[in-house]
Amino acid sequence: MAYRVLVTDDIDADGVALLASEPRLQVDEVPTLPKEELYARIGDYDAIVGRSATRVSEELLRRATRLKVVGRAGVGVDNIALDVATELGVAVINAPAGNTIAVAELFFGSLISLFRHIPRANESMHAGRWDRAQLLGAELKGRTLGIVGLGRIGGEVATRAHAFGMNVVAFDPYIPDTRFQSLRVRRAPSLEALLGEADILTVHVPLTEETTGMIGRSEIGRLPSGAIVCNLARGGIVADDALAAALDSGKLAGAVLDVYVKEPLTGDHPFRGRPNVILTPHIGASTAEAQHNVAVEACRAVRDALLSGELSRSLNVANSEGRDWSELRSAIVVAQRAATIARAILAGQGVRAVQRLTVRYGPDLAGAGEVLASAAAVGALEGVLESARLNMISARSLAASRGIEIAVTESSQLAHPSGVEVSLAAGMQELAVAGVAPHAAAWRLTRIGGFHVDVAPREVLIVLTNHDVPGVIGHVGTVLGAAKVNIAEYHQARLAQGGEALAAITVDPPVSTEICRKLLEIPDVLTATIVRFGASVAT
Ligand code: NAD
Repeated sequence: MAYRVLVTDDIDADGVALLASEPRLQVDEVPTLPKEELYARIGDYDAIVGRSATRVSEELLRRATRLKVVGRAGVGVDNIALDVATELGVAVINAPAGNTIAVAELFFGSLISLFRHIPRANESMHAGRWDRAQLLGAELKGRTLGIVGLGRIGGEVATRAHAFGMNVVAFDPYIPDTRFQSLRVRRAPSLEALLGEADILTVHVPLTEETTGMIGRSEIGRLPSGAIVCNLARGGIVADDALAAALDSGKLAGAVLDVYVKEPLTGDHPFRGRPNVILTPHIGASTAEAQHNVAVEACRAVRDALLSGELSRSLNVANSEGRDWSELRSAIVVAQRAATIARAILAGQGVRAVQRLTVRYGPDLAGAGEVLASAAAVGALEGVLESARLNMISARSLAASRGIEIAVTESSQLAHPSGVEVSLAAGMQELAVAGVAPHAAAWRLTRIGGFHVDVAPREVLIVLTNHDVPGVIGHVGTVLGAAKVNIAEYHQARLAQGGEALAAITVDPPVSTEICRKLLEIPDVLTATIVRFGASVAT
């Protein structure tokens, strides 16, 4: 089946070519479309790739019934309704790395322009003047650069600042010490501490609730007099009014701005016309190299998401704390299978409204908690929801909307360091199913409730409980054989001789639901559950 991809906003041709060269993708390239036209067309597409000019709003997403992926050739996704995409199971993929160098280089270009009055010098020369005496500049060497946000761009800025002989200090509470050390950047313990010493303050953080207005009147007040404030990240991180006031009062010697709260900047904006403010019209990523890089990066990720289901690049998928999803594949299978089995067995006991889903995982899977919780949520909802959009992106939000609480913890109490245990509970009833995933290609289910098992069901698992008496296994084999159901694995477990026993039987499809009735006719069989992975049926 071909997937249809809408490419808009003048994406670099190499990105479009990468998609178009794939026979299973049908690509339509259009200029930035008016909202109504985009709304009318979006229902035909499996993916849309664009830049910031196209707003992927809630309304657009709700009309996009086929949509699986939104690709953004660039970093910022403030033009995309991310929460709605998550709820609908639509992957949102950006291209975070491609324009890093472009922004870092613009930063120094603009900063040196300010320090050496390059725009004024250039303009005066072209106007036929020789204003040498009025163009006394200053040097970067020895000045303290305070960076807020030591991510990709902040890091490249730091590296280049060393080359200019600057003192580099940064504030980023979300980054480990090791990154500060490898970049040779001094860590400021707080934003206040950073502000206290920054001759030049530059922000390289995303626009979030926490960063909106994070450099306001009191923060600017803490800077040394004559400091410079730079924002090449997003408009609104530095508060406009506070910045204008500090420039007016002379507290700040200048500013460098590439981004604005409202773009394009109005003609009469108070930032315009100030010789000590370098203004550029959001050109941080506007280099041929960056546009090429982000287009190729986004288009490649969109292609992989559509054709291989590779979602680990999506922004709205569970965070695996830097762990590669390919390493976690078998643990993901265990979590999903375990939840599906628990749900099917509980449903067989009349418990359908699950209230709690708890995932415990061993220390070898450190960092995988969110991913495993998503996988378990998929398993718990599989066959319950008629949603074609139940996937690793939407599962936790769908579970939450159904009132299912999810808890996930790392635990050294499991039998194996790469163990995964999923338990589902409703009221006082709880059932835990566990397995192990010792490496990416190997997994087994090891426990159903209190029974130790050892099976790796691919498509169908039959779970039987029976009295531990002779002859049951033979009867079960006869019933399955008569129905032409092929047994792949048969694991019989019991808690005590003569007590209750459980059989985990991996079988090849097809298996009709009718089999359950026949299995229940066997004397001493107590319950029979067919679990179909992908869509499970409980009896
Ligand atoms: P990144 O995700 O690599 O880095 C952002 C850093 O900010 C992270 O290290 C994060 O820990 C840190 N951070 C988040 N909240 C913080 C807070 N409250 N206090 C301190 N640090 C905080 O992103 P990046 O690629 O370096 O890009 C940074 C920003 O630059 C982007 O979010 C984007 O908005 C902007 N950008 C602008 C242009 C442009 O054209 N001017 C181009 C590309 C990116």
